[in-house]
Amino acid sequence: MTDYNITVAGHKEPLTFLLQAYQQNQLMPVYLFWGENNVGKSTAALWLAQQINCLAPVKQRACGQCRSCRKIYETLYPDLNINAKLQPDVKSTSKINPDTRANVRIHPDIKIITPESHEILIEQIRALQEEAKLLPLEAALKFYIIEDAHRLNNYAANCLLKILEEPPSQVMIILITDSPAYLLPTILSRCAMIKFSLLPNEQVREFIARHTNDEPKIELLVKLAQGKPGKALQILQNPNFANTRTAILKLLNSFKQITLTEFIEKGEKLELDKPENLEILISWVTDLLRIKENLKTDYLVNYDYTPDLTRLADELTIWQCYQIGLMIKEFRFDLEKPFNLNKKHLVWQMLTSVNSVFEIKEI
Ligand SMILES: [Zn+2]
Repeated sequence: MTDYNITVAGHKEPLTFLLQAYQQNQLMPVYLFWGENNVGKSTAALWLAQQINCLAPVKQRACGQCRSCRKIYETLYPDLNINAKLQPDVKSTSKINPDTRANVRIHPDIKIITPESHEILIEQIRALQEEAKLLPLEAALKFYIIEDAHRLNNYAANCLLKILEEPPSQVMIILITDSPAYLLPTILSRCAMIKFSLLPNEQVREFIARHTNDEPKIELLVKLAQGKPGKALQILQNPNFANTRTAILKLLNSFKQITLTEFIEKGEKLELDKPENLEILISWVTDLLRIKENLKTDYLVNYDYTPDLTRLADELTIWQCYQIGLMIKEFRFDLEKPFNLNKKHLVWQMLTSVNSVFEIKEI
């Protein structure tokens, strides 16, 4: 028999806390799940929805068999971060349909609200407000999962505030964010906050081993994931990741051998503004700093490039490494701005600045 239980990697403490609160009838109407991206917050929200809405619990846990458990599970790829979990056609259909906009429904009583373009708009929250007044169709509690809640624009946040002030009794709202500081204090004060921490490597290893048995690959994924199981899975499922990573690290490690023009030309082709590629850039400079700070090479993310990284670290001062780190951080900050500048220009600017630290001479 197929098991439709949603499983969450790690996070035993927050999950036990939520389950106990549910069993003792002490669940709060509004939660804020916070912690880094891809750590499992959205999966945990769906797991909770399943626990609460299961029609035939076994030993006070979701049965993983009933209609409700299956519906919550079936539109998802098991174990993935929710944004990746939503099937592309489900997401795009929801964007075309003006009634649902970016609000994705996975069960008649569970709705996931994702930002429309960069922001969560007031229309999305108004729809929630109207719908929340209605009784659930089949569930015990209606669930609204608001992804990237820090992207609520001011109008949407104020509209949400009205709902949070007097949440309807049949509704549970879970806000999800990696940046709680960007939420209005008035919203924060109405949420029960639950932190989701980075997982220990052992737990990420255990999780990823359920998806592949290629040992060397598992080791590398654990290092690259940095405590985020969803990230490990995204990398595993991205067929281009290995080649892109090799190209980026080769370019960065070869700065002494090529001209500034080559460096920029090659760098511009590598789509460094993409979040997954930016992560490689960050892991590279972090590794350089770890070497400069004499940490054991076991701690390197890109441990399979240890000789190249060590050679490069020898050629740079710790000050230069910090400067490069700051430039990359600034690049990331600019990319995340709501109405950011031309991304190609930002990549060019970042590569040029990094080069100035390298002191590559134009030939
Ligand atoms: Zn069930």
